[in-house]
Amino acid sequence: MTAHWHPELVSGELLGLTNALGQPERKFAILAEGNTSERLPDGRLVVKASGASLGSATRDDFVTLDVDEIAGILLDPAVDQRSLTDALDSGVHGGVHRRASIESLMHAAVQAVGPVRFIGHTHPTAVLGLVSSIHAATAYDSPAYSDEAVVLGRPLFVPYASPGIQLGRTVYEALKSRVDEDGDMPALIVLGNHGIVAIGPTAEAVEGVTEMAVKGAEVRIAALSTGGLVALPAESMKAFFARDDIAERRRDLKGAR
Ligand SMILES: [Zn+2]
Repeated sequence: MTAHWHPELVSGELLGLTNALGQPERKFAILAEGNTSERLPDGRLVVKASGASLGSATRDDFVTLDVDEIAGILLDPAVDQRSLTDALDSGVHGGVHRRASIESLMHAAVQAVGPVRFIGHTHPTAVLGLVSSIHAATAYDSPAYSDEAVVLGRPLFVPYASPGIQLGRTVYEALKSRVDEDGDMPALIVLGNHGIVAIGPTAEAVEGVTEMAVKGAEVRIAALSTGGLVALPAESMKAFFARDDIAERRRDLKGAR
């Protein structure tokens, strides 16, 4: 069994991030939508269990996985959905069946490409509206405003794949191609007809990327409803990012220090 139940390994930062992303008025996730995870220094992944709400999750609502084992299973073409689901099951604890979310395969896929400490996956209403539209694939191609460019960098769009093995493998392939191309992990993955994955070194960074992605979606919907988005000029963005003060602002906004 690769999944275990260790509430004592759930950090205050992970729990705080989880509850913050699930506040109902933010409209990032309702019911049991969304999931969060933290990579521990020893390589294990603490991820939200299936069925728990982000807003009200407690330390009992997380499962600990061995990232390498889950990623190995995910990337083995001979493995089917059933054996993967079994691998995510930590058994019954405190009278409740604790199974890692099927979407934790997506978290394992991110970790298999580039180890990162925190991941937050949500289905924000504004983003879902945009990525369920005909503009989904190109919506985040160009930044709409400078702070968005600073925080989100170059988001990665991944077309719809059904949650589970297919989504995990699709995210892995797309992310691997991007990192091979850019050398860097994106801070934001935009999932067609689904939601977003925010990636960061701190819980604040993940919350900030999520907030900026939602604001960016609202801005795009407003721009599209008034005739279309005028993107920031690529040349001036290049000069903007070369400035020292912007490099500093970027570190501050991204919560990277
Ligand atoms: Zn989802």
